[in-house]
Amino acid sequence: MRAELIDGKAIAATIRGEIARDVAALTARGVVPGLAVVLVGDDAASATYVGAKEKASVEAGMKGGTIRLPASTSQQELLALVERLNGDPAVHGILVQMPLPKHIDPDTVIRHIRPDKDVDGFHPENVGKLLIGHTDGFVSCTPAGVIELLVRSGVDTRGAEAVIIGRSNIVGKPMAALLVQGRAGGDATVTVCHSRTKDLAAHTRRADILIAAIGRAEMITGDMIKPGAVVIDVGMNSVPDATKAKGSRLCGDVHFASAVEVASKITPVPGGVGPMTIAMLLRNTVRAAERTLG
Ligand code: NDP
Repeated sequence: MRAELIDGKAIAATIRGEIARDVAALTARGVVPGLAVVLVGDDAASATYVGAKEKASVEAGMKGGTIRLPASTSQQELLALVERLNGDPAVHGILVQMPLPKHIDPDTVIRHIRPDKDVDGFHPENVGKLLIGHTDGFVSCTPAGVIELLVRSGVDTRGAEAVIIGRSNIVGKPMAALLVQGRAGGDATVTVCHSRTKDLAAHTRRADILIAAIGRAEMITGDMIKPGAVVIDVGMNSVPDATKAKGSRLCGDVHFASAVEVASKITPVPGGVGPMTIAMLLRNTVRAAERTLG
């Protein structure tokens, strides 16, 4: 079998078109959705992600702005900025790019963001709402993007064996919460694996839907995948590659060449989950702006 590609870039482009229409409608009602992105320090990968988010928000017709602060910024200064953005009516969504410099506690910063502006969906109030099934919170963008990919690719999650590898707060855990919910893109039977899981392959080989969010380049090989499974690769790893001008290439947590021969559908890296994360961030920002209209 050679798997069908799930084209995250194309699906994200469709969603961004839908979002642009929503933004135009809101703007006509006098509300221009505003997304404030905060970048502390000069981490190269973070700068790239932030640039992509700002560009996408502006392309969708939003008011996007990145506030760049030096790595020496104190936690107090960052909290004061968040406070100011919390109170700014033109800002509907606030995103503080992680990771933060070591001297700043990320949990303190996340808890400071007003939950109704927390478009990353990391605030404990939004995480709690996700767990209890309340739909008026914000869901972490990457797992929300994975659900959207499954639904828009016609994957039936109901009753499916879904196996997630990774239990982080931003991907693995919210992914499990979404897949187990009793609504579209949910109703799956969910297993969450991690570094302490015994016999990982025994779990992955049972999966009708396999989601890899590990951060280990090409760890999941074709022999670990059930024939006909749907494989979603969240991983984004930079590996050395002398044939590339910059000396490295981006790859996922799944060994694509062997997995594509076994799976029925698979996401590529790049062009799979990554573009969906940004699309979901824009959607959360539009929702935050809509809610200010009551
Ligand atoms: P974390 O490092 O926070 O979590 C990784 C998880 O994988 C942990 O739960 C860890 O287990 C588990 N793990 C590590 N090694 C193994 C192993 N050998 N066997 C089984 N499980 C293992 O990463 P994130 O969740 O933040 O990100 C995961 C990947 O997704 C990364 O490559 C990241 O770059 C990518 N990513 C991509 C995004 C996108 O937009 N496409 C967005 C966010 C992340 P334990 O908890 O026991 O340590």
